[in-house]
Amino acid sequence: MSRSALHLRPTPDAPAITEAADLGTVLGIWAHPDDEALLSAGLMAAARDAGQRVVCVTATLGEHGTDDPRHWPPDRLAAVRGHELRASLAALGVCEHHVLGIGDGACAEQPEDFVVHRLARIVREVAPDTIVTFGPDGLTGHEDHQTVSRWATAARALAAPRARLLYATTTEEFVDAWEPARDAFAVFLTDELPLRTPRSSLAVELRMDSAALDRKMVALRAQASQMTGLIAALGEDRVRDWWSVETFVAAERVESRTAWASWRVAA
Ligand SMILES: [Zn+2]
Repeated sequence: MSRSALHLRPTPDAPAITEAADLGTVLGIWAHPDDEALLSAGLMAAARDAGQRVVCVTATLGEHGTDDPRHWPPDRLAAVRGHELRASLAALGVCEHHVLGIGDGACAEQPEDFVVHRLARIVREVAPDTIVTFGPDGLTGHEDHQTVSRWATAARALAAPRARLLYATTTEEFVDAWEPARDAFAVFLTDELPLRTPRSSLAVELRMDSAALDRKMVALRAQASQMTGLIAALGEDRVRDWWSVETFVAAERVESRTAWASWRVAA
């Protein structure tokens, strides 16, 4: 069995890193349960296997993530997604986890300073070497994702300015792979394309081997309320294929374009 290929490139403000251990302590800051697994399950597992501390922050419990709210009222779904998230992280060896308890879909309405200072306290306590979060585009165009990106960026500036800040990004090949399913599954909330980074500019490109992918699928399947339908509709092979690569770009390489803020269009 081959090892997962983790290609790490130096970022402008951080020393060169060549393997998972060089990530140091990793702090992930995400909006909803399953964001962390889809975008960074392989990274978290690789860091844990290399003996690193990994801490995950989730802003909301995604309590509105259903098209059947009569059977899944928000309180019930929030509780289930919390349990699913813990099980998912456990499969990756991650047991340190914070939920901010913000309403699903309500991130942008929060008092920014208050949340950033709250997040900064966690960042200070964790003292991460690497922070992973969304880019300013929010990847899918979700306003919660864009807001969490802004919060994480501000909290890092306050509490850990020397930490490496990495934004989850996509490449042209990933977007091409998604195109056929784009209309069938309302994953992207915009007609525009997410932030795409040339492979040569990625800070981290993690290509998972089958064992690492098996583990990621366990983490995804643990979040059954969100994943069961998607995996059934897409087919396991396609899900494995599309989420077999995790890619991040150094924040310093991403322009802060005011356009990102209004990038979201109604679903
Ligand atoms: Zn999300």
